[in-house]
Amino acid sequence: MLLSLDSPVQYVPRVGPMMAQKLEKLGIYTVFDLLYHIPFRYDDFSHTTKISSIRPNEIVTTTGTIESIVNIFTKSGKPMQKAVLSDETGHIECLWYNQIFLTKILKPAMKIAVSGKANWFGHTLVLESPVYERTDGVDAHLHTGRLVPVYPETAGVTSKWIRGRINFILQTCVPTLEESLSQTILTRQKLIQLTIALQNVHFPSILSDAHESKKRLAFDEMFLLIAKSAYRKKQRESLVHAPILTIDDDSLERIIASLPFTLTDDQLLSIKEIRNDVAKSTSMNRLLEGDVGSGKTVVASIAMYITHQSGFPSILMAPTQILATQHYLTITKIFQALPIRIRLITGQKKEQKNYDGKEDAHITIGTHALLSDSEIIQNVGLVVIDEQQRFGVTQRNILLNAKKNTSTPHLLTMTATPIPRTLARVVYGEMDLSTLLTMPKGRKKITTWVVPEEKRIAAYEWIRKELKTHNTQSFIVCPLIEESDTLITVKAATQEYERLKANEFKDFRVGLLHGRLKPKEKDILLKDFRLQKLDILVTTPVVEVGIDIPTATIMVIEAADRFGLSQLHQLRGRVGRSDLSSYCLLFTENISELAIKRLKALESIHSGPELAQLDLSLRGPGQLFGTRQHGLPDLKIASFTDSALVHAAKTEVELLFAKPIDLSTIPLLREATKESKIESIAD
Ligand code: ADP
Ligand code: MG
Repeated sequence: MLLSLDSPVQYVPRVGPMMAQKLEKLGIYTVFDLLYHIPFRYDDFSHTTKISSIRPNEIVTTTGTIESIVNIFTKSGKPMQKAVLSDETGHIECLWYNQIFLTKILKPAMKIAVSGKANWFGHTLVLESPVYERTDGVDAHLHTGRLVPVYPETAGVTSKWIRGRINFILQTCVPTLEESLSQTILTRQKLIQLTIALQNVHFPSILSDAHESKKRLAFDEMFLLIAKSAYRKKQRESLVHAPILTIDDDSLERIIASLPFTLTDDQLLSIKEIRNDVAKSTSMNRLLEGDVGSGKTVVASIAMYITHQSGFPSILMAPTQILATQHYLTITKIFQALPIRIRLITGQKKEQKNYDGKEDAHITIGTHALLSDSEIIQNVGLVVIDEQQRFGVTQRNILLNAKKNTSTPHLLTMTATPIPRTLARVVYGEMDLSTLLTMPKGRKKITTWVVPEEKRIAAYEWIRKELKTHNTQSFIVCPLIEESDTLITVKAATQEYERLKANEFKDFRVGLLHGRLKPKEKDILLKDFRLQKLDILVTTPVVEVGIDIPTATIMVIEAADRFGLSQLHQLRGRVGRSDLSSYCLLFTENISELAIKRLKALESIHSGPELAQLDLSLRGPGQLFGTRQHGLPDLKIASFTDSALVHAAKTEVELLFAKPIDLSTIPLLREATKESKIESIAD
């Protein structure tokens, strides 16, 4: 079988099923993945030294002939391997620990190169645990005597092994690879050729080669991401099957006037933008981005009202039962005086208003449970998805492409993901963007304090007084112990709850909310908290998304340093939802300067995007953008913070799409625009 980049990695000689399984841990499944497993640094073993010139404490590479190699034992009885290596200037000992197999691989008279550090061992100068390779074999000069790539490794997969396999791919598959970008782009962006970049990113002669190569490969990645977005947008615009949804000015004004508050200018603008979009037969694909508490729900409600006025049903899908229920309550309230049939469908429960179950509901609100009912999702005019980063593309597509649909619904997605706007334009490039920048009037800043451990007792005292004086409520968020292990997190929250209930807050009504409760129990808890039958809600970080309880004014966050700034900002946004003064107390036992500096930022900065930007510069993109929570695509080489790269890639995509697209000129896109690939990459 001919090996291609799409081949499963196990077919690379000397990989096989066992190693392939180990490689999965590194996210490597295909030959392509292995080839794009990029070194994270290069060890400089480029200078070879004659044996007689080796000095202690130097890292050196030297070559020579093996005079002898034997297994010996340390004083404590551990096996060691000792080889004597010689060249025309002298000889030196090489020592390895516990590598008995070495005497089977390395034999006297073999020519090898070794790289490592020279140390005194007793009175003898030795090379301790040097990297070695035969200089007469096929893989010669991969591991020594050069800039040597060091890769992310995993159990049973060493950099040395990876080097050999990548070298094989570079020899066999890479030379025949087609250049993936057009010559015009390469010239304009001063990029080196693909095959050279792939060779040099792994085995550079000098460090600047590696930089040039990474620059080229990063460009490919960013360009592809942006181009796909642009392509999807173009594709969608060619589908003109969406229902035309309109509303007359009077009705719109009346519904807006009936709201218990005045809409902000941004809310009004967003509504206008949505109204414009849905009046066209091209399906809307708009992202409503707004900080926590900026009032996205009401904008979505108006959009559903417009849909209703045109005789089409709408669907709103939320990521959790709690949120779906809350939306149901909010929306039934907004439309309380109108004969609009609304129902709630989650895995656990069904509720309805003005809806007898016989006719179709006008508005259906629910969790992903909606997806499994093909009747519900048929022929809707508008699909609203809240906290879109929690859903995959597949789920979105089920809603948009219901089987018996005669038309494509309009799509409004909402997110509080605080990514800088410039970045949003890139990552969500295929969507049009509406942003709620200003908060509703009367919102006060949430007074935020970083509370060191020694002030904990005083802080509890202050909370007790505050709750009593103002008849308000408090959230206490317990630490995120292990994202993957809910059980441990739940246990920690339970302990904290028991402790607080028995001690600091024994005169208060305390509740405990966590992910292991039954939906029904969660509902009751939240209802009690909403109705002020509970004073304090101890919770795991599940409370993060979307909960809206205006009388809760204090947010306490334990082990705050374990959260990202954006996450803390989201949590903090659970209070300050009315005109009452609100507070956020960040407890931390971490006294490192950086940790405190990060947390202190929340005391003075109250804008989500600004905090996101700061988090980015303090912790680096890995922390902010590597997380699935943000729903941003993972990049292997490129970085979203490389604004020059983002700009360059975006410019090229725009130039490309300005003309009728001839994808054949850009092999990278020709491949990528095959339907299946687009789907999997967007996911
Ligand atoms: P989010 O954007 O985080 O989803 P919500 O839609 O839950 O925010 O709104 C937060 C709170 O603000 C709700 O209680 C909502 O009723 C209220 N709200 C929304 N818009 C306004 C406004 N223009 N003026 C005052 N309160 C508003
Ligand atoms: Mg919300």
